[in-house]
Amino acid sequence: MKITRITVYHVDLPLEHPYWLSGGRLKFECLDATLVKLETDAGLTGWGEGTPWGHTYVPAHGPGIRAGIETMAPFVLGLDPRRVLDVERAMDLALPGHLYAKSPIDMACWDIAGQAAGVPIADLMGGGSRTPRAIASSVGAKTIDDTRAVMDRYRQRGYVAHSVKIGGDVARDIARIRDVESIRKPGEIVLYDVNRGWTRQQALRVMRATEDLHVMFEQPCETLDDIAAIRPLHAAPVSVDETLVTLQDAARIARDGLAEVFGIKLNRVGGLTKAARMRDIALAHGIDMFVMATGGSVLADTEALHLAATIPDANCHAVWACQDMLTVDIAGGRGPRNIDGHLHLPEAPGLGVAPDEGALGDPVAVYV
Ligand code: MG
Repeated sequence: MKITRITVYHVDLPLEHPYWLSGGRLKFECLDATLVKLETDAGLTGWGEGTPWGHTYVPAHGPGIRAGIETMAPFVLGLDPRRVLDVERAMDLALPGHLYAKSPIDMACWDIAGQAAGVPIADLMGGGSRTPRAIASSVGAKTIDDTRAVMDRYRQRGYVAHSVKIGGDVARDIARIRDVESIRKPGEIVLYDVNRGWTRQQALRVMRATEDLHVMFEQPCETLDDIAAIRPLHAAPVSVDETLVTLQDAARIARDGLAEVFGIKLNRVGGLTKAARMRDIALAHGIDMFVMATGGSVLADTEALHLAATIPDANCHAVWACQDMLTVDIAGGRGPRNIDGHLHLPEAPGLGVAPDEGALGDPVAVYV
């Protein structure tokens, strides 16, 4: 089987509500999505998506995905999409780094490989748990009242896991954490996501002031060096996502004990093939996981859900449904959707969901 055509679409995905990170430092209103269709000489078609969370969040750029695909396309055409490692190596040779540009092609290859084998991607990867995965909310609010309002909105849709965005102001962060913990319901999972918003001294002041609450923080500081420096000085479990980019990052975090949880972002780390290795490092070191898209439609959420299904239930805390934050739906309601705060693995072969191609507009590039 050979890849015979790569078709690229650019779609804007507006957010239903403006979204703030790092205590208001960063505002997001619309996501730049790239959808990629791979066609083969066997008649199978696979879909991939790459949607960074804007271009100010981490080093990833919507137009950069499309430029990267233009560079890599001649090296990917003609390869067998079922040989995902061959495709991965071809992309890494053609364009070192730029992981976020590679994930949509990797995803589309897995989609085709699953269809060719007649099984969902998760099963093809060797472990497809059918236990529904809790969806983590994304509470990008600034004040206590806003935080309560957004969490209530999610609770009404069945959410039992919440990622509350904090960072930037020590007193406000401590007050918001204490308030959320005071209204936390039994069984709810809450992660306080700093998104690199603290300096070392800010991190230590908040983490030590809330030690009695036994809460967990995500990405408290900018770099792994920062996280390593404060590690001996506080008692809180830490999740790392934005600085978990390469397999070498994963190995360092595991070996040096820098985090107890990996937040694996599929687009950020370069797709399912590379993310699966991070999963194995995590499992080998007693590290639990959140798995999520960096952003995007139901396609990106579904990609993450497949990886989540290959993680033992007890080690997979939650996934994400960015689709719930958008005003447009490119798949016409198909694919995994929020059911009582959970996503259910699709049983169709491959990814299990494809976009409504008519909703994507004209392609911005076609490579043959
Ligand atoms: Mg995070």
